[in-house]
Amino acid sequence: MYHALWPAGLSPAEVDAHCRRDPQLADPGARRYALDAAVFDRQLEQLAHHAAPMAAQWDELARGRGAPRQAWITFDDGHASNHELALPLLRRRGLRAAFFITTDWIGAERFMTPAMLRALRDAGMLLGSHGCSHRYLSDLTTAELDRELRESKARLEELLGEEIPALALPGGRGDGRVRERARAAGYRYLFTSRVGLAPPEGDLLALPRVPIVNDQPEAFLSRLLAGETAELARMARGARRREFARRMLGNRIYDRLRGWVMRE
Ligand SMILES: [Zn+2]
Repeated sequence: MYHALWPAGLSPAEVDAHCRRDPQLADPGARRYALDAAVFDRQLEQLAHHAAPMAAQWDELARGRGAPRQAWITFDDGHASNHELALPLLRRRGLRAAFFITTDWIGAERFMTPAMLRALRDAGMLLGSHGCSHRYLSDLTTAELDRELRESKARLEELLGEEIPALALPGGRGDGRVRERARAAGYRYLFTSRVGLAPPEGDLLALPRVPIVNDQPEAFLSRLLAGETAELARMARGARRREFARRMLGNRIYDRLRGWVMRE
């Protein structure tokens, strides 16, 4: 699970200046999820060598279960760097990724335009919904939830001229109600932020992911691809602690305290 990238070859001071100018990356909490394009490229090299390539169609998630060690590369939010930096690196290695788009942000400063989204699709990438507004779906009334699920899907379907059957939960926040309303809205694949690897017969409406953040050791992914899951298990324990804190405090108070709670 990737988000934004920043250009390769910048010094730490240049990265800081670059991120300060970017409305999406100015927030230090959001910046943790952004990655140096050179690090991303090295991770693609690892993925290309040690994992089966991602499928060309969403429905291969259902059909291709049991494909051993298949890696799905996903991006959330629809940041412009997905088109500017990630797409050329993916194409050079002949790899695919799935991009989950927050539809109210299409064309906003430093987010992808309709033309960029079509360019991703035309390059063989998969596009899915990440809601309309990025509000946490589990916080919404059922009417608001339905609107987020249906309008984001319809907007992308109109823009791309194809069915959008996949959703990634904004902020990873979801529950049984979100899952049921998503299914009713026509989604067949739901990507969460639960930390883990998807088992072959896993639930397609509760797909876990592995967050890639810029304070991870660079060898994290190569160790995971080599079958060492100790770090992943530690991350999953941390994520479960944060999930517990969120349930106890509610999303709003949790987000205010996030700076403390995030430290593990
Ligand atoms: Zn997001």
